[in-house]
Formats: sequence, structure tokens, C-alpha cells
Amino acid sequence: MKDIIADVLILGAGPAGLSAAIYASRAGKKTVVLKGQAPSRLEWAHKIENYPGMDGVTGKEMLSSFEAQAVKFGAQIEESDALELALEMNPKMVTTRHSFIMASTVILAMGRGEHKRSVMNEDQYVGLGVSYCATCDGAFFKGKPVVVYGNDHEAFNDAIMLRDLGCEVTLISMNRFEGNQIAKGIKYLHKTQVVSVEGNGMVSSIKVKDAEGDSMIETRALFIIQAMPSGILLKKTPLETSDKDCIHVDRNMHTSIAGVYAAGDMTCGGLQVSISVGEGATAALEALKYLREQASVQ
Ligand SMILES: Cc1cc2nc3c(=O)[nH]c(=O)nc-3n(C[C@H](O)[C@H](O)[C@H](O)COP(=O)(O)OP(=O)(O)OC[C@H]3O[C@@H](n4cnc5c(N)ncnc54)[C@H](O)[C@@H]3O)c2cc1C
Repeated sequence: MKDIIADVLILGAGPAGLSAAIYASRAGKKTVVLKGQAPSRLEWAHKIENYPGMDGVTGKEMLSSFEAQAVKFGAQIEESDALELALEMNPKMVTTRHSFIMASTVILAMGRGEHKRSVMNEDQYVGLGVSYCATCDGAFFKGKPVVVYGNDHEAFNDAIMLRDLGCEVTLISMNRFEGNQIAKGIKYLHKTQVVSVEGNGMVSSIKVKDAEGDSMIETRALFIIQAMPSGILLKKTPLETSDKDCIHVDRNMHTSIAGVYAAGDMTCGGLQVSISVGEGATAALEALKYLREQASVQ
């Protein structure tokens, strides 16, 4: 794990986040952008015809041009999901799988990615044994049986981390881990799906399915390793949101927490690139103002 310090931390590398990054980095502030595993919604757009000056480009072309401009001014792009937010303290803290980030201001620009629930009862047990962050919650399960469910190197790395914490780890995957992704002290179940999570207040077991049928595995925790959707993150913060997980902002993109701003599809303000870019710019200008005010009272 590495420690990162930022003046402006931007969660999300879509049009809102990258527009904010251009303003913040061009103003000379240490600007870090977290680019999550789930793609920006703009990646799905095959042709954009309603953004001024870029008629007929693909969403991917537009994004790479935004990103190059932000990087040119010094923004640091970190490819990682935010997994845990502590926004009320000063500095604010954000945890990813690879880093602890301390920032004076935070701009939330994580879009409206949907969380595809793959496991029955998953919702019911979030925080009661279901976790998306081994770094954040692993230590609660020292010496206990835990399951890591995921298909890529992130799942493997988290399994190693939990093993090293002293957990009894089973790594379950729809794929097959091979070669340098096989490690001692980890039990592997390949080509296996986690069907449901069971318990009585806390997780006590999971039901899995493979070519031979269904079976139960006793466990105290299920770590689901996948992209972290913004809705789940927001639920764990005191930020004011609507029942559709739209963050409440004023017209200057201020959220209900000082020094924290939101922009783009997260505010449900229009769900368009040009609106996201405008909101990102406003959020960054307000973050810069906040930094100036903080500096003047110190
Ligand atoms: C098929 C399609 C076609 C479209 N066509 C148009 C069009 O023609 N014109 C138009 O104006 N708009 C169009 N849109 C809408 C446009 O794409 C969105 O309004 C815009 O992308 C929103 O920008 P955003 O920055 O708010 O979010 P997004 O672009 O969705 O970016 C979200 C970012 O947040 C990151 N993220 C998510 N979770 C986390 C996390 N936990 N930690 C860190 N990062 C995270 C993601 O990786 C991503 O980088 C289209 C959308 C779709 C799906």
C-alpha cells in the first residue's frame, strides 16, 4: 500500500472528473484522479454529435483527449476504485486496493454505474460479513474462514493479503487461476459460482455451484472483488442523496459536506457530456476557492 497526498482528489475519470482535473491541475494544485474498474459511460457512445467542437467523435476518442489534456497539466491518474470514504475529517481519506489517499478537497464524479448483484442476499449482509474491500475489513476476520470471490489479479492479491492477516482463505472464481496466481495457504475453487450468502444476522455460510451441483461452505466473510459502484460507497457516507442515489448539490456543486463537491451523472443533473464537463469545471473552481480559504485561516 502506498500513501498519496493531494490538494484535490477526484473520484472518477469520465467527462466530469477529467474536466475538474484540467482546472485543478492547471491551477498548479496536486491533483489525483481515481479511474475505477467500471468504464465511463461515455465509452459506450459510438458517435457524439452534441458536444461543441467535437462533432462525430467516438466516446473513447473524446475520453482519451480529455485524459491527455488533464495529464498534460500534471494530473496524476491512478487506476483504482475508491473503496472506503472518510469525508468529514480534515484531511479527507480515501482507501483503494493499492493506496491510502489524504486530500484537502474531494470531487465525486463516479457516474451512475449500475451494480450488478451476482449473489443472492448480498445487499442484506453488506457490513455484516459481505465486503468489497479486504484492505478495509480484512482485519475483522483474523483467524477466521473467509471467501474471496473474483476473477482477476485483484481477487488473487486480496486473497494473499487476507492469508497474511491470518485468515483461512478460499478463493472462488468462475475462471481458473494458474501459474504465478497459485499461492500456498489458499484453497481454490475454480469454475465455481457463489449463488447466495446465508446467515443469521452475520454471514455464516455461502451456497456455491459448480459442474457437480450446489454445495454449502462455512465462512464468516464474503469479499466480492469487482468494480465498486458509487451507490454502495455513498450509502456509507453522511452525504445527502435522493432515493435514486443522486447526490444533492447546490448550484456551485457543493455537497452537504464542506470541501466535498459532486459533478456529472452523480448529481442526475442532465446526464450529458457537456453538462458533466460544466459541473466538473464548477466543482474544481469551488475546490480551489476552498483551498484558498483554508490557507488564509491557517
Ligand atoms: C450508449 C451511451 C451513449 C451516450 N451518448 C451521449 C451523447 O451522444 N451525448 C452526450 O452528451 N452524452 C451521451 N451519453 C451520456 C454520457 O456518456 C454521460 O452523461 C457522461 O459520461 C457522464 O460523465 P461522468 O463523468 O459523470 O460519469 P462517467 O462518464 O460514467 O464516468 C464515471 C467514472 O467514475 C469511475 N468510477 C466509478 N466508480 C468508481 C469508484 N468506486 N472509484 C473510482 N472511480 C470510479 C469510472 O471508472 C469512470 O471513470 C451517452 C451514454 C451512453 C451510455
